[in-house]
Amino acid sequence: MPIQKSEIRKAYLLDKYVIITPGRAKRPRDIKEETIVSRTEPCPFCPEKIYQKNIVDKISSGNKWHILSIKNIFPAVTLTNKKAYGSQEVIIETPDHIKEIADFNSAGIEDVLRMYARRTEKLSKNKNLDYILCFKNQGSKAGASIIHSHSQVFATKIIPPVLREEARLAESYNIKHGRCPYCDIIKNEIKSKRKICSDKLIAAFTPYASEYHYEAWIFPRRHLDNITQLNRNEIKSIAGTLKIILKKLQVLDLSFNFYLHNVITDKHQHFYIKIQPRDSVWAGVELGSGLVINSVSPEEAAKYYRK
Ligand SMILES: [Zn+2]
Ligand SMILES: [Zn+2]
Repeated sequence: MPIQKSEIRKAYLLDKYVIITPGRAKRPRDIKEETIVSRTEPCPFCPEKIYQKNIVDKISSGNKWHILSIKNIFPAVTLTNKKAYGSQEVIIETPDHIKEIADFNSAGIEDVLRMYARRTEKLSKNKNLDYILCFKNQGSKAGASIIHSHSQVFATKIIPPVLREEARLAESYNIKHGRCPYCDIIKNEIKSKRKICSDKLIAAFTPYASEYHYEAWIFPRRHLDNITQLNRNEIKSIAGTLKIILKKLQVLDLSFNFYLHNVITDKHQHFYIKIQPRDSVWAGVELGSGLVINSVSPEEAAKYYRK
């Protein structure tokens, strides 16, 4: 097979560049990644270690919870600290200590999304919080410290500059073309080699300037700006797609982060989920120049997801 040439690509909106170098792609993995240390203390997310006073929300079946949101016991920001104002919660996605989210049934993943929506709705009532981030770290390379499946909610007063910049660029696109840029991106990408899957409600693809190996984005096709506006069928479709993607990452044994692009105060934003596997370690080029080298082209990644 001929070696494909490298290509510098610009992100859809942001002034960010990636060098796609498929010629350097190796097979996905040749070493096992994680070292799981055995616990000396009980896991703080297992049912017997949950303190009632820390529970802020729960989804139950019968009299047993299967998803909890609890206060983060080691928060960086709190509602009582004026110098670092914010809120942090941990969403425990299952009472089962070792079950990974990729192994949940679709209904289980739907409930995780529902919990994100509930927490987003609740926290958005606090007018001093302008930004709410729901995210998940799985695996040591993604920064997870506890294997028990969980996500986090992080809310602050500050809208991060990169999001403000994206919002500004989306707005100027809107003024120029009269449409949301992401609605256009979705239309183009589901006709491209980067398409993972799509149906009437959602679209999933690998972004043109993927920064991470096997990076994948999932969008609702309807223009909506945050997760609280998803309807039942959209949640179902997103959960099914997320499961397909996470199962594929499980086969590759990759750590990953995923997070919601959710700007609660901006109707021009289009809600989506970004899944960023943490295979490659950013080194001198990335840290020194801000340019990212990605040796798995998004076209190749999409092909893997479609298989
Ligand atoms: Zn546990
Ligand atoms: Zn849109």
